[in-house]
Amino acid sequence: MKQSKLLIQTLRETPRDADVVSQQLMMRAGMIQKVAAGIYSYLPLAFRSIRKFEEIVREELAKDGCQELLMPAVLPAELWQESGRWKFYGDELLRFCDRKAKAEMAERRARGEKPDEREFYNFCLGPTHEEVITDIVRKNVRSYKQLPMNLFQIQTKFRDERRPRFGLMRGREFTMKDAYSFHADDACADREYWAMFNAYKRIFSRLGVKFRPVEADSGAIGGSFTHEFHVLAGSGEDAILSCDGCDYTSNIEKTEAPALRAGEHGKAFELKKDHFRTPGVVGQVEQAEGMIDADHPKGMPITQTSKFFLYRATFADGTTKLVGAVLRGDHEVNPVKVKNFVGAAEMEMMPLEEAEAFTGAKSGFMGPVGLKDVQMLVDRSLEGAVNLTCGANRTDYHHFGLDPVRDLPGCAYADLRMAAEGDACTRCGKGHYQAFRGIEVGQVFKLGLKYSKSMGCTFLDEQGRENPMVMGCYGIGITRTVAAAVEQNYDADGIIWPWPIAPYQVHIVCLDPANPEVSGVASQVEQDLEKAGFEVLHDDREGMSPGAKFKDADLLGFPLRLTVGAKGLKDGIVELRDRRTKEVLKLKPEAAAAEVAAARDRIMQELEAAGGR
Ligand code: ATP
Ligand code: MG
Repeated sequence: MKQSKLLIQTLRETPRDADVVSQQLMMRAGMIQKVAAGIYSYLPLAFRSIRKFEEIVREELAKDGCQELLMPAVLPAELWQESGRWKFYGDELLRFCDRKAKAEMAERRARGEKPDEREFYNFCLGPTHEEVITDIVRKNVRSYKQLPMNLFQIQTKFRDERRPRFGLMRGREFTMKDAYSFHADDACADREYWAMFNAYKRIFSRLGVKFRPVEADSGAIGGSFTHEFHVLAGSGEDAILSCDGCDYTSNIEKTEAPALRAGEHGKAFELKKDHFRTPGVVGQVEQAEGMIDADHPKGMPITQTSKFFLYRATFADGTTKLVGAVLRGDHEVNPVKVKNFVGAAEMEMMPLEEAEAFTGAKSGFMGPVGLKDVQMLVDRSLEGAVNLTCGANRTDYHHFGLDPVRDLPGCAYADLRMAAEGDACTRCGKGHYQAFRGIEVGQVFKLGLKYSKSMGCTFLDEQGRENPMVMGCYGIGITRTVAAAVEQNYDADGIIWPWPIAPYQVHIVCLDPANPEVSGVASQVEQDLEKAGFEVLHDDREGMSPGAKFKDADLLGFPLRLTVGAKGLKDGIVELRDRRTKEVLKLKPEAAAAEVAAARDRIMQELEAAGGR
């Protein structure tokens, strides 16, 4: 491919609205172009990388017998109503109405009615495809003899993300590989889960990126068991804790926090006053310092303060409940754990004004004591703790001496807090958690019966009895992964593409394209390399300085650069440069294909040694 004909515009300056390296470099390298917030065009170079990654995914899934199909991007509301997610998916689901529904809406408005537009939404853009695939399988699979089955697609998804950012990493429109498996029993679904887990390890290892499978929360999609695959990068949006003594690695949303051992709390004492006047004391540190009595003239340690959170939980059947969570003052609440403990489908913090009206106190003085109709949870780090401070549900007052068992009848202790770096590992009990940042590039879920039950996806077993199928689902963010690979592979000059997804593998830079002899050699080398099976971009642009060409080549970051210039050719040589190591090899133009092959083998060996885990 001649670069003079390629659709590409490189930029010297970093675009102002690009926040992370992959976005900056891919925009500067003319690979992606923003069309709207979170919506990008993949220009030719980026599209080549994306396609290559898709092929890696296809090859590895084929080894496990997965079948590829393609579902629509526009989905009818009915299917989502059947699964119950029409109601629960939230605003990430872009809903709209078609021509027919619009006509109905217009008719009712013409009659003077003022219907809510949302009533007419009858379609959405697919953010994920459990409903559609379940519908396909329930219509086409009847017998246990057809199971198990794993079906996947590589398709454009749309999620109306609250904060689209980071280029391809958190777009609103993006490409996902989503696979769904169907089984006659649980054991078979478990086998497939681990088969996909291993396929994902192969896929990300082939990219040569550093990644970790991590135990994760199953989130809004529901389900019993899940791992996320994270590419490790400082710019990652997820916090991961990994034990330094065993394999336990998990998303912090899920990481078990250790209970504290007896004796890690202060000693119990009699409550001297039921509450203290503590005007202006809203923070935990002030709370600790402000709690002075004869035994504690300098106040309390912060570990004896408590903090309180009030949530409204909504359940799958539409009912709601108030949930309170009490934590030690220096701990952070993990709302995912609270939500999972009560089994809610959705949970939100009670809005401040409502919470003030409900508790009768301003923020900073709310507490768990005496609240009616609240399911009260206490973090298990506080088991055995009795002399805590807490807001008194009266502005400017705190209680002193909270004993959860005595003062919060019916409360339950549970793991509610965010685990932290340095906490003892709950699995091996010996190691401690270390913190990493990760970019979630894939996830495997065991879904169980959630969709097959609600949507009636059943099969006949050997005895002719009807049973719901056990399901799993498995996603990979295709475009996000390509960006994540850039997050791990760049330097001050630009991208350093891992060989397997480099848009082109060799960049021939012709320094004197107007000189027929030089351009002749460059074109000959291009042909030789292409004949040997390499993908080559030939920078044949005229009227550019060598410096500008090299700058562009470094920015685009293909693994190998082959420089052809009049100066070198005088001595009969061209130069092969490794983008990562910057090592340069002088060689005869006729030897280019053999030397490029040798360089590829070395690069692939290094990649295997560096990647994965
Ligand atoms: P996140 O927590 O990052 O929002 P998710 O857990 O909601 O992602 P899944 O439903 O598991 O995403 O989707 C499968 C994969 O699709 C993810 O692992 C991720 O790689 C990719 N993905 C999800 N949302 C986006 C997005 N907004 N932009 C690009 N890729 C995405
Ligand atoms: Mg996910």
